[in-house]
Amino acid sequence: MDPQPHGEPGARPVGPLEQALHAARALVLADLIAREVAEADVVSMVEDSVAHRRWWVEQWPDGAGFLPGLVAQDVQDALLERYGRWPLCPVCGTGDPHALEVEPELGPDPHWVCHKAGVKVAAVGALGGAMPS
Ligand SMILES: [Zn+2]
Repeated sequence: MDPQPHGEPGARPVGPLEQALHAARALVLADLIAREVAEADVVSMVEDSVAHRRWWVEQWPDGAGFLPGLVAQDVQDALLERYGRWPLCPVCGTGDPHALEVEPELGPDPHWVCHKAGVKVAAVGALGGAMPS
């Protein structure tokens, strides 16, 4: 399913930036699958974000470590427009359903946090392990 850049004119070998993009994509997909929203059109939201962030990280390679948090936020925004809040907070059992937020918004080692409870719920990519089964 991945487009194969090999053989295209001017294609570069897979470098650290491409690896970082693949890792970010995999982490966010893992969280989407954990919440059972990895439908085809949702996966395409991830692809759109990765394509956009590929441009971004080429301008600013030092930001490669920020990609998982950025892609997670892009997908969260896209889902909010089309489906609603994601991922819903699994920590607070009462009150209005609310979404977790990525922290830091622009930094390495991003986590999903609940601002209501003031807790880190899981690392981005590890949401599946934080869900009650
Ligand atoms: Zn909460």
